[in-house]
Amino acid sequence: MKITEIRSKSIISASKIHDYVVNPYVGCAHGCSYCYARYMKRFTDHREPWGEFVDVKINAAELLAKEIKKKTRGNIWMSGVCDPYQPLEAKYELTRSCARIIVEHGWPLSVQTRSPLVLRDLDILRKGKDVEAGFSITTADERIRKMFEPCAPPIPERLKALRTLHDNGVRTFVMIAPILPGAVDLIDKIEGIADHIIIDRMNYNHADHIYKKHNLTHKNTDGYFAEAGELIAAKCREKKIELMWAY
Ligand code: SF4
Repeated sequence: MKITEIRSKSIISASKIHDYVVNPYVGCAHGCSYCYARYMKRFTDHREPWGEFVDVKINAAELLAKEIKKKTRGNIWMSGVCDPYQPLEAKYELTRSCARIIVEHGWPLSVQTRSPLVLRDLDILRKGKDVEAGFSITTADERIRKMFEPCAPPIPERLKALRTLHDNGVRTFVMIAPILPGAVDLIDKIEGIADHIIIDRMNYNHADHIYKKHNLTHKNTDGYFAEAGELIAAKCREKKIELMWAY
């Protein structure tokens, strides 16, 4: 793993999904095989494979404190192209410092991760007036998780942390993206601990290597995502869980 401390020029970026996005790191040690963020490599000089480099924006909090005063108030998403609670966050605490500034300014914050390390920052998340925290969980099946996300925390740990967030009064969500085999079984496990669920399919543009490896075509997976989405939707209707489709 190549770790480099860098000083970024800016930290709050416009986002198509929320108003803004803050990425305290470039790269992600979780290195999920389907990760759409691997396109980031194009904008950096990195030659290492995705998941084997992380640039640490050591001035992230300093920049955020300045930029937040100049921007129109809006919802900030952490993070779009890295996991804000990837292992290096335990040492650098950049996400923690940024979250504290956002909450102190009373801005809405949406945190999304695969790591129970988010619980370290419960003190901050609980203070926010408009804060939500969610887990990305793509399957209930650990065998499938290990195939696609071998370096990310196990699913039972994520579910346990999700419950803790929820029990502590934080608004919670689960992002099932992409829907992997075994995802439908997640709904029973999520019931009562996630306030809403978002589902998405595989991002074809960044998953060609997976399609080649498993000899799939885009056409034959369209049916899979449509069917799996409908099964999840039916379960959510039954359990009265709010569901958003991203496709
Ligand atoms: S945790 Fe998110 S950002 Fe990190 S590799 Fe996985 S999908 Fe990409």
